[in-house]
Amino acid sequence: MGLDTFTPEDPIFKKESVLRDTYTPDELLERDRELQEYQNALKPVIKGEDPKNIFLYGQTGVGKTIATEMVLNQLETDQQKYDYLNIQRVEVLCKGLTSSYQVSVKLVNQFREASDKIPTTGYSPDAVLDMLWTHLEEQDATHVLIVLDEIDSIGNDDDILYQLPRANSNGNVPRNQTKLGVIGISNDFTFRDNLSARVKDSLAEEEIHFPPYDANQLQHILRQRSENAFEDNVLDGGVIKLCAAFAGQESGSARQALKLLYKAGDLARSRDQEKVTEEDVREAEPLVQSSKVSDELQALPTQSHLTLYSVLIMHYEDKLPAKSQQIYQRYKIAAEKVGSDIKTDRTIRDRLSQLSLKGFLDVKEKNKGSQGGSYYLYDLDIRADLVKDALKKSSRIGETLD
Ligand code: ADP
Ligand code: MG
Repeated sequence: MGLDTFTPEDPIFKKESVLRDTYTPDELLERDRELQEYQNALKPVIKGEDPKNIFLYGQTGVGKTIATEMVLNQLETDQQKYDYLNIQRVEVLCKGLTSSYQVSVKLVNQFREASDKIPTTGYSPDAVLDMLWTHLEEQDATHVLIVLDEIDSIGNDDDILYQLPRANSNGNVPRNQTKLGVIGISNDFTFRDNLSARVKDSLAEEEIHFPPYDANQLQHILRQRSENAFEDNVLDGGVIKLCAAFAGQESGSARQALKLLYKAGDLARSRDQEKVTEEDVREAEPLVQSSKVSDELQALPTQSHLTLYSVLIMHYEDKLPAKSQQIYQRYKIAAEKVGSDIKTDRTIRDRLSQLSLKGFLDVKEKNKGSQGGSYYLYDLDIRADLVKDALKKSSRIGETLD
C-alpha cells in the first residue's frame, strides 16, 4: 500500500465544519428559559440605564458561550434603533489566566494596537488598572459590557471581580462617560461559592444557571445540526439517539455529543462506508471520552496532576479506596520524584475535592462509628487507562509513568 490520492469526494459529510466547536448555529435550542433570563437581565441597558452585573454558570458544553454571543449580537442590532445608545463589548477568554493581574493585562490589550500591547510582567497591578480605567473612559460608548469567559480560571485571586463592578461608583470610570457591566461566565460550580464575600455581592446581581442537557434535548440539538452536516440518509436510525444517550449520561454536554457524532462520521468515512452506524458510535465513544479527559486534565494545575497521579498509582497497587492521609503519603513521594514543591496535606485535600467535583474521583463519606465524626474515602471515577494516557500527554509527570 502506498499513498491514496486526495479527493474532495465525501459520501458522508455535506459540510463537516457544522459539527465543529467554532460553528455558530442559527438558533439555540432548549435554552428558552436561560435566554429569557439573560435578555431580561440586560433590559436596563437598552433603556440607557446602568447595566446589572451578570454571572452565568454551568458545566462545559451547555451553551453559555454561545448564548452570550447570541444575546449580545441581538443587543447590538437592537440598540441601533435608539440614538441615546452606543453599547460596546469587550470579551476576554480567561482560560489559562491564573490571576486577576493577567486578566487586567489582557483586558487592557484588547483596547490596544498590536504595536502598543503591554507585556504580562513589569507593571504594578495598580498601574495596569489605571490604564484600563483610561481606556474604558475614552471609549466612545455609553455602555461597555465586559465579558469574562471561563473566569473560574483565576481561582481565589479574584480582585479584578471586585474592581470592575465598582469602577463606576468609585469614580474610576465616571458613569456619565461610560457605564460598565460585567458578565462573568464560569464552568466551575464551586467558583462562585469560593469568591470572597465582597466580590460575590457585586458580581452576581443576576445569576443564570445553565443546567446539563438531558438525552432528549441532546437529540434535538444533534438532529438540527446533522441536517446541514451530513448527506441525506447516511445516518442509521439509532445513531443520533445513541450519541445523545452517551453524552447525556456522561456529561450533559452538547459539545461532547457533537464531538461523538463527528467522530463516528469520521470513522465511517475513513472506511469508505456508505452509512454511519451505531457500531461507529460505540467505537468513537472511548476515543472522544479520552480526549475530553485529557483536555480537562491539561487545564488542571501541577499539584492536581500529582494528586491524581498518586491516586492512579494506588489504583494499580490495589489500595483504593483510600483516605486523604494515605494519598498524601503517596503524593509526597511523587512530588519529590518530579522535583516539585511538597505542599501541605491541607492543599492536597483541596485538590482531592476539586478532582471529585470535576468527576475524576469518586468520594464517599464514612462514619467513624463510636468515636463520632467522619472521613472521606477516595477512588478513581474514570477508567485508569484514560487517566494514565491523559497524564502522560498532559504533564511533566508523564515521563515517570511507565
Ligand atoms: P459552554 O460555553 O457552556 O462550554 P458552548 O456555548 O461553547 O458551551 O457550547 C458548546 C457547543 O455546543 C458549541 O458548539 C455550541 O454550538 C453547541 N451548543 C450548545 N448548546 C446548544 C444548543 N442549545 N443548541 C445548539 N447548539 C448548542
Ligand atoms: Mg464556554
